[in-house]
Amino acid sequence: MLRRAGPSLRHFLLERKSSSGYSLYSSEAKMSRQVQARRLEGIDKNIWVEFVKLAATYSTVNLGQGFPDFPPPDFLKEAFVRALSGKNHMLHQYTRAFGHPPLVKILAQFFGKLLGRDLDPMTNVMVTVGAYQALFCCFQAFVDEGDEVIIIEPFFDCYEPMVKMAGGTPVFVPLRPKAPKDGKLMSSADWQLDPDDLASKFNERTKAIVLNSPNNPLGKVFSRGELELIADLCVKHDVLCISDEVYEWLVYDGKEHIRIASLQGMWDRTVIIGSAGKTFSATGWKVGWTVGPNRLLQHLHTVHQNSVYHCATVAQDAVAQGFQRELELYGKPDSYFIQLPKELQQKRDWLIQSLDAVGMKPIVPEGTYFLVADISKFKSDVPDVPDSDEPYDSRFAKWMVKNKGLAAIPLSAFYSEAHKNNYNHFIRFCFAKEEATLKAANDILQKWKQEKTSP
Ligand code: PMP
Repeated sequence: MLRRAGPSLRHFLLERKSSSGYSLYSSEAKMSRQVQARRLEGIDKNIWVEFVKLAATYSTVNLGQGFPDFPPPDFLKEAFVRALSGKNHMLHQYTRAFGHPPLVKILAQFFGKLLGRDLDPMTNVMVTVGAYQALFCCFQAFVDEGDEVIIIEPFFDCYEPMVKMAGGTPVFVPLRPKAPKDGKLMSSADWQLDPDDLASKFNERTKAIVLNSPNNPLGKVFSRGELELIADLCVKHDVLCISDEVYEWLVYDGKEHIRIASLQGMWDRTVIIGSAGKTFSATGWKVGWTVGPNRLLQHLHTVHQNSVYHCATVAQDAVAQGFQRELELYGKPDSYFIQLPKELQQKRDWLIQSLDAVGMKPIVPEGTYFLVADISKFKSDVPDVPDSDEPYDSRFAKWMVKNKGLAAIPLSAFYSEAHKNNYNHFIRFCFAKEEATLKAANDILQKWKQEKTSP
């Protein structure tokens, strides 16, 4: 046996404790310097953490966070099982960092068809851990200190902190509602950009614009004219477009989802972001992707390879099989990309009816599985809190989940701090839910209305 050359580490530590009066194991030795990096200042609060907890504690019906409560299609679940327990045990190991080869190949084929161009699976597609990580890669890869990034309000809330973490400055431009025609319900199409307002946000510091069509939370599907307006400004000012298209298949009433990358001059400056979570109703799988020119994607590679490296192989393999099926059924009635929006349109219409019947005026979404409703008529139910900093819709949504058991998300959560009180009498519902869930929501709303009207 080897003799130790000196005292053991334990002995050394005990010695130090007795001579200096503190132990290295003690929790008393505190750091006096600031622990968190400056880039985290002001972005520590997160709406989802708070509202998910409230929904878990109080809700009987949860129409808050955006995920389906129905299962993904059988063909996808079966593909996962095959990948998990099939003969190819290498599916349990690392795969290619920028995307499992079968998945990038089929995505290149699928999006190549949609965009009408040849895509190289190795350079024009990168797989990410959900669309979230795709967004993170974009901001980290493109945004420098001092760069400005234009964000259209209301927006999926993580854009703002992600721009700030990269050292950039978010510049907001609002969609403005115009009153609908007499007697008609408002549509998400009634929320529009003011062309002059938008143009005024572009300058030499502008690095990128984030486009989200179909848009969460309104469900707005940007028209060709609106996309051309954005595209012209991007080309004129040499600006990139981060195009979050996670709800690309969820469009209703015969609307068309137009990919901004297909417009003149846009392919070279656009990164398309997609999500298997939204596409196949499997948000927990966290498989996302980016599609774009190599001149942009090569920089996403750098962020990706130095952060998460790659996404779970089995899940990627199953998504590849799902896309293979969808490519074969493209445009046919059995395609999931045809069936899902058909089913969701019906669910949207049920929720519209429920809300309209009780006077919570819905804004009819053209896409996504979200619906925003006006709560003005219910104001008298929620106790006023004078001088509260918290937007009214946020207090309303909290009161509603605690007192009625119905969870929704305040629209102010989708606005920047400076603008969160501009449209603070709306809440967002998710209607990607089982029929029974929507019926239970309807029951709550009806009962609530009766209580309001009974003397
Ligand atoms: N973009 C938008 C507009 C979203 O609504 C979401 C999810 N709610 C994401 C990105 C993130 O998608 P994933 O779950 O694939 O990370």
